[in-house]
Amino acid sequence: MTHEFLKELGLEGVNSGACGAEFFEPGGEILSSYDPATGELIGQVKQATREDYERVVAEASEAFKKWRLMPAPKRGELVRQAGNAMRSKKDALGKLVTLEMGKLLQEGLGEVQEAIDIADYAVGLSRQMYGVTTHSERPEHRLYEQWHPLGNVGVITAFNFPIAVWAWNAMIAMVCGDSVVWKPSPKTPLIAVATQKLLHPIFAAEGVGAICSLLVGDLDNVGVPMVNDRRFPLISATGSCRMGREVASTVAGRLARSVLELGGNNALTVLDDAPLDLALRAVVFGACGTAGQRCTSTRRLFLQKGIAEDLTQKIVDAYKQVKIGNPLNEGTLVGPLIDTDAVAMYEKAIEAAKAQGGEVLAGGNVLKGEGYESGCFVEPTIIRATKDMAIVKEETFAPILYVMTVEDLNEAIDAQNDVDQGLSSSLFTVNMRASERFLSAAGSDCGIANINLGTSGAEIGLAFGGEKDTGGGREAGSDSWKVYMRRQTNTLNYGTSLPLAQGITFG
Ligand code: NAD
Repeated sequence: MTHEFLKELGLEGVNSGACGAEFFEPGGEILSSYDPATGELIGQVKQATREDYERVVAEASEAFKKWRLMPAPKRGELVRQAGNAMRSKKDALGKLVTLEMGKLLQEGLGEVQEAIDIADYAVGLSRQMYGVTTHSERPEHRLYEQWHPLGNVGVITAFNFPIAVWAWNAMIAMVCGDSVVWKPSPKTPLIAVATQKLLHPIFAAEGVGAICSLLVGDLDNVGVPMVNDRRFPLISATGSCRMGREVASTVAGRLARSVLELGGNNALTVLDDAPLDLALRAVVFGACGTAGQRCTSTRRLFLQKGIAEDLTQKIVDAYKQVKIGNPLNEGTLVGPLIDTDAVAMYEKAIEAAKAQGGEVLAGGNVLKGEGYESGCFVEPTIIRATKDMAIVKEETFAPILYVMTVEDLNEAIDAQNDVDQGLSSSLFTVNMRASERFLSAAGSDCGIANINLGTSGAEIGLAFGGEKDTGGGREAGSDSWKVYMRRQTNTLNYGTSLPLAQGITFG
């Protein structure tokens, strides 16, 4: 099938996957990108070699020297133009996200909107990177902190948010005065190339060089060199906990910073007094949305015993209505998994759950036949489970929901927190004491804790990220920008003597 929007985004033939100060022809192998819904080839990207990597990083380092001196609001002006460029192509970019990643068109458009939103946010931020001042204990001295640009930021992204997560990092890092080098997921290279093609002319016209660069390449040529490279004082990496462990230890070994946004195993708890209609919708969206391929997807459901049977039945009934199909088609609620490896993981998890005593209440099958020829479509699945089953403690990146019954909130909180990951959590209740307990220091141990809404669908205004094996990183709003800068404490003596702090006299 030909897709006109690919041409609109400048994607034709074999596209270059390397751009520093300019797009150039890299020397690596060709990477093909397939539509997970149809299995059709969408496009191809020529990947970067180690030499291409060197070229782009050298150009990024050079560009940083000038970019860091440009006034931050002026940098914000270029980011404003970048946001507007994405706004002007929102429809085409959203369709490409859907085509290449497989999320629903509404979700694809929403993801591009999130990239635009963070650009708008970054423009405002460019005038608000405040440092504090305080009063000195010494006469005629002034004390303050200021924030300086950090350097090159390596942004490694996962397949499931192929543009938004990059934008969360890149837009903020650029107003902070850093240069950004993007290594996208090999499963979604075209959206990265299209975005780079759209934004690059803005920076080229301003003559700022390689402050917003792209390297599509494998781990040997790009991923691992980047993580090991001292020219990157910050690596921001989004993906599996396995990847995060490798990146964290390497980056820590060279005493640099990492921002890690890793796997989640998100739980939603419903108490007996909860608004059940809201809970039902939140569970179905949280567990089935993006075919269970959000880091914040609902994977575990704890139901208080009074409503457990009734609500479970309602959820099972709702799952029967969910239309599975091509995500570009209207009416589809669940699209494909990213590839057949993901399907194999889904099957493996269901087998493990059954072997550990789980009972499949809905779904459980890989779909075959017309419309499902790519082999990537699976039924959203509900499994009645117990909280001590080993598989329940793992993140399977597929639409599998484990349902468990609990006596009370205390049991739910203990069970919810008894996993390695700590990304998102939510509680449904109208009991003020219960909600406050859930949000208290003795409540949810996750980076995100919600009341009466689902585990997924965060806004950009506040910091996003999770604890424990989720990596501890924070991105997007609030004061997340600080990690992209270096803090300098300044003491200035405008007097004529040299008093020492703490009243010390010397000589
Ligand atoms: P993945 O770990 O397979 O790959 C993520 C990225 O890391 C890719 O670009 C990959 O090439 C790169 N990578 C892998 N090993 C590397 C290494 N040793 N050095 C450098 N780069 C390396 O993850 P995925 O399958 O693309 O994404 C799904 C995972 O991402 C899930 O676990 C999901 O929960 C997680 N995720 C987390 C968040 C969050 O904000 N917490 C957001 C999105 C996705």
